[in-house]
Amino acid sequence: MSVRAGALALQGDFREHIAMLKRLGVEAVPVRSAAELETVDALVVPGGESTTIGRLARIYGLIEPLRARIEAGMPTLGTCAGMIFLAAATTGPEQPQLGVLDAVVERNAFGRQVDSFESELDVAGFDEPVRAVFIRAPWIAKLGSGVEVLAVVEDAAGDDPRPVFVRQGNVLATSFHPELIDDTRIHEMLIAMAREG
Ligand code: GLN
Repeated sequence: MSVRAGALALQGDFREHIAMLKRLGVEAVPVRSAAELETVDALVVPGGESTTIGRLARIYGLIEPLRARIEAGMPTLGTCAGMIFLAAATTGPEQPQLGVLDAVVERNAFGRQVDSFESELDVAGFDEPVRAVFIRAPWIAKLGSGVEVLAVVEDAAGDDPRPVFVRQGNVLATSFHPELIDDTRIHEMLIAMAREG
């Protein structure tokens, strides 16, 4: 099946995701309206600023259409701010979120130690680690029982490992930025889910 993928293009680095998806040979388009959302088989919610993405989604009337498509099974990948927007809540003040990922996220969670960093991350099911780029990244503070953890970061303070890559059915979410590295495996996961129907 030929897949048409979308990147939510309200704010953030949706262009890098579109470029990555095109490298995989799929049609990839920006999504800014409910009508455009209807035309895609899979969606990326990019990194950026999650409160801005949420507010713009509200203004553009996209909250309910997004929730409906994702709940109906559309394969979706949220990265960094995108992960926050997909989640149920944050540990901070309320902000617009879709609640399609049963998780509570802590924004800028690594920021107390360092704003941005890269790390070689072991991912469940991958033979080789992923070079993960974290930029003012969230981690998952609380996780529902139906959410599978695919990668964690060990905290220097010796606290519990923090989930940074999770899957809940058709929803994938990363704290880091797979669109910024020369490695297409995470986008391939999304497209494979769309091909499986
Ligand atoms: N700190 C941003 C937020 O909380 C996320 C940063 C990113 O997407 N790189 O929304």
